[in-house]
Amino acid sequence: MEQFKYKRVLLKISGEALGGNVSDLYNNKSIDNICQQIQTLVKNKVQVGVVVGGGNIWRGAKQGESVGLKRINADYMGMLATIMNALVVESKLKALGLKVIVQSSLEINQVAEPFYYKKAISRFEKGYVCIFAGGTGSPYFTTDTAAALRAIEIDADVLLMAKNGVDGVYDKDPTINKHAVRYDHLTYEDITNKQLKVMDLTAATMCMEANLKIIVFDINGENNIIKAVQNKVIATIISKK
Ligand code: UDP
Repeated sequence: MEQFKYKRVLLKISGEALGGNVSDLYNNKSIDNICQQIQTLVKNKVQVGVVVGGGNIWRGAKQGESVGLKRINADYMGMLATIMNALVVESKLKALGLKVIVQSSLEINQVAEPFYYKKAISRFEKGYVCIFAGGTGSPYFTTDTAAALRAIEIDADVLLMAKNGVDGVYDKDPTINKHAVRYDHLTYEDITNKQLKVMDLTAATMCMEANLKIIVFDINGENNIIKAVQNKVIATIISKK
C-alpha cells in the first residue's frame, strides 16, 4: 500500500452518499464501500473521524418549509437524521471488526456519548474510529460547518470533503455546463470572495482561521477516500496558498 500522507483525518460524508439513488434511504453497496475504505485506512494507522450529513433523510430549511414547520424544529429534525446515519455507519464499521464510537452534539445517551474532543482524541490514539453525529447541535448550521469545527477540535491534518458525483470545485456548475473547469487549487479567500458553492461560508471561514487544509473530491471514484489520504485523488485542494 502506498504512503499515507495524513495521520489524522476528518471525513465529511453527505447523507446522500449513503443512499444509492433518490429513492433509496440507504444503499448497502455504497455504505459498505465507504466503510471498507475506512477499514483500510485504520489498518494503515490513519486515525479517522467521520461527520455524516442527514440530507438523505431530511433537510431542515427546504423540507420543513414545504410542510409548514418552523425552521428551528425542522433543523433539529435534520440533526436527528444525522444521528440515524451515524448509527448506520457505526453498525457497518463494527461488522468489519473496527472499534467505533459515536459522539453526538445532541444528548442521546442511550446510543451515543456526548461530544468531547479530548475523549475523541484519546479514542483515536486507541485505534477507534469516531463518528460525530448531531451536526453542530445548533439550528441554522450545516454538517459542513460541523465537519470544519470537529476537524479543528480534533486537530485533524486535513478535512476530506467528500462530494457525491462531483470531483472538486468548478468555475461553473458542471452538471449543467459542459465547459465548466475544475480548479486544482483554491485559497480560502477564493471560496469566500467568489462565493463558490462548495461548502457554506461559515465552514470555509472557520477553516481559513484555523488554516485547515480541505480536499474536495468525489466519493464515488474507486478507492477515492484512500487516494485522498494518499494525496493522489482528483480533487480541488483548498488551503492558504
Ligand atoms: N442541521 C442543523 N445544524 C447542524 C447540522 C445540520 O440544523 O449543525 C440540519 C439542517 O436542517 C440540515 C440537516 O440537518 O438541512 C441535514 O444536514 P446537511 O444538510 O448538512 O446534510 P448533508 O447535506 O451533508 O447530507
